[in-house]
Amino acid sequence: MNIVRCISCDGYGWFEEDGETVECDWCGGIGYVYRGADGADRRIPAGDYEAVAAQLERLEQERLRALGYTGQARRPWEQKIRQQRRGT
Ligand SMILES: [Zn+2]
Repeated sequence: MNIVRCISCDGYGWFEEDGETVECDWCGGIGYVYRGADGADRRIPAGDYEAVAAQLERLEQERLRALGYTGQARRPWEQKIRQQRRGT
């Protein structure tokens, strides 16, 4: 399954609306989605975050490099993994 940047938030995972930060519905705040062979985008299930974390990090670093940012990737998926572990 291919992973692509979320077309809704362009990889940010959130929007700013009226000065407030709102999580992107399309990708669940991760900034990336699965793209099926049919071309349809699908949200990456929370249970898959760990399995795809390395791939997400690579995509995120590419995105940040394209923006001219040289620091650490944002890794929202790691935050999600932590939240999941706390919840179980
Ligand atoms: Zn999104």
